[in-house]
Amino acid sequence: MTACALSSKSPAMSRELFWPRSTSLGANMSPRTPPRRMISGVPDHVDGRMLAITEAAGGSIINRDRMWHYVEGIRNWAPLWTDHAIRILPGPSSLWLDAHGKRLPVPLYPGFDTLGTLSHIMGTGFDYSWFILTQKIIQKEFALSGSEQNPDLTGKSWRQVLGRATSGVPGPVKAFMEKGEDFIVEPDLPALVARMNALVGGEPLLELAQVEREIRARDRQLDNPFSKDMQITALRGARAYLGDRLIRTAKPHKMLDPANGPLIAVRLNILTRKTLGGSQTDLDSRVLDAEGQPIEGLYAVGEAAGFGGGGMHGYAALEGTFLGGCIFSGRSAGRAASRMVG
Ligand SMILES: Cc1cc2nc3c(=O)[nH]c(=O)nc-3n(C[C@H](O)[C@H](O)[C@H](O)COP(=O)(O)OP(=O)(O)OC[C@H]3O[C@@H](n4cnc5c(N)ncnc54)[C@H](O)[C@@H]3O)c2cc1C
Repeated sequence: MTACALSSKSPAMSRELFWPRSTSLGANMSPRTPPRRMISGVPDHVDGRMLAITEAAGGSIINRDRMWHYVEGIRNWAPLWTDHAIRILPGPSSLWLDAHGKRLPVPLYPGFDTLGTLSHIMGTGFDYSWFILTQKIIQKEFALSGSEQNPDLTGKSWRQVLGRATSGVPGPVKAFMEKGEDFIVEPDLPALVARMNALVGGEPLLELAQVEREIRARDRQLDNPFSKDMQITALRGARAYLGDRLIRTAKPHKMLDPANGPLIAVRLNILTRKTLGGSQTDLDSRVLDAEGQPIEGLYAVGEAAGFGGGGMHGYAALEGTFLGGCIFSGRSAGRAASRMVG
């Protein structure tokens, strides 16, 4: 028997969250309340219920405070589950602004440091942020997580995958531009900022002059081959690699030049995905009780076991390495269980 996947929607997790220690900002985090508004990166059935059942049966749960949320969540316009969130897997060019239109600090650029960015955004007192970008950026740099958003990959079509390099805005991204509630497309900045303010409601937090100042400061740096804008330097660096140049990083261009338009703003919500803690196990993936003794016949693997043992990643994690711990702990459990039954 294995415990089922633990999600951040687990009731035990929702009372109080400890934000992860930032790897980049070195902040000493204290307990904080979770964002008021989060959208869900996992289906409804991923509810952590089995974890509570395992605990009631005597299983030890460790590292409940270790969470993993993404900061580039958009609400799916065609939801398959409650509050269905899609994560943007962004290329490096979008300008990242906080709720007041202030640019996020170095090195919090798209795709750089999820937990550091999360920590920073929550420090602003708001639970969302903004990407500002152009048509040229979105067509090359926006990938969306989720199998239904990547028909070329799930359909195993090399022809369609190669089309990412040549054929404009991908269909799933275009659908979000037209129907996604977090997307705003406008030919000029005043109209864009007005709609950004309208989208979040309440007091208008964004001043046109502030947003324009940030974009102009960034655009100006493109004229400088020795730019001190680290994001521009990163773009140039990324494009030195042919793969990124072809399908991942737009040619650097001025956002306020209408030739690169229209302008696009995307409200980015906090997307809850998983905890990094879970059932505590030994190296055979056997669930341990409060005394550290294995409970006979009870194994936990994958997310349910904090990706192996109850938290093999610590407070942070390297993106893209989650699956490894799931497969490894599954293999350990399978081998141990087969030994047990002879
Ligand atoms: C959109 C998305 C993108 C991701 N991208 C990456 C990535 O790029 N790199 C990376 O490393 N990780 C990524 N992850 C994380 C990684 O995929 C998961 O952590 C991993 O797949 C979890 O594996 P698991 O075996 O613990 O759980 P699951 O893969 O969820 O397996 C649990 C299985 O149990 C079954 N099940 C549930 N209840 C029952 C029941 N009562 N009876 C029988 N069966 C049941 C479910 O149907 C499911 O098949 C991503 C996750 C998501 C959601």
